[in-house]
Amino acid sequence: MSFLKDIINLILPPRCAVCGCVLDTDKGVCDKCIAKFDFIKDSLCYRCGQPFANLSDGKGHKICAYCSAHKRRPFRLSRSAFEYNDFSKKLIIDFKFHDRTDLAPLLAKMMFVAGKDIFAAGVDVIIPVPLHYTRLLKRRYNQSALLAKELYGLSGVKICCDAIVKNRRTRPQVECLGTERLSNVKGAFLVNRPEIITSKRVLLIDDVLTTGATLKECAKTVRQARPKSIDNLTIARVE
Ligand SMILES: [Zn+2]
Ligand SMILES: [Zn+2]
Repeated sequence: MSFLKDIINLILPPRCAVCGCVLDTDKGVCDKCIAKFDFIKDSLCYRCGQPFANLSDGKGHKICAYCSAHKRRPFRLSRSAFEYNDFSKKLIIDFKFHDRTDLAPLLAKMMFVAGKDIFAAGVDVIIPVPLHYTRLLKRRYNQSALLAKELYGLSGVKICCDAIVKNRRTRPQVECLGTERLSNVKGAFLVNRPEIITSKRVLLIDDVLTTGATLKECAKTVRQARPKSIDNLTIARVE
């Protein structure tokens, strides 16, 4: 058995999922790459997932001052795997635009760990933020749907990629500033399959949380079909 393993390792040595260097263990990512991630650690707001927390919600969960002052928020819980830094920015751009779909299992595993409170609170359906069909044709894959598929494998929670759809093209959010981001995505999504959403605990998946404009607009759309709750889980968040 170990002979066979040695042969396989010789032909197909385990490689770092990020940089592709040959690994001498089966950790999946090399130490150099792991050190470059700014993982969001345990000290965070239970609700919005912001690192840094200083208050309690009375149930033993730490929540930030903003969340304790704003009870009505679009999301029950929000989490991200790591901070958006130069390293993760490049990684996410490769994943989104340069066909590095091989990164999906690794990124989803990190999201699954970061999203443990969300899965513990209960999720009935995972919905990736949809792309407009013209963009999907051009890019050939929806990066959020790839992550959702992996998260289904890890959590067993079913996914639905067409519960909401994008009904018009928008400019990339990175090209928009501040309030422009809100108007850019306003009314861009439609409920397509309300039966998937009604009375369900919905988890929205996106790549990067910047101002949250896209996710908030998706949540607004999802809310039209009266879900029980809406959470969001992203790869990285911009502080
Ligand atoms: Zn590496
Ligand atoms: Zn908070």
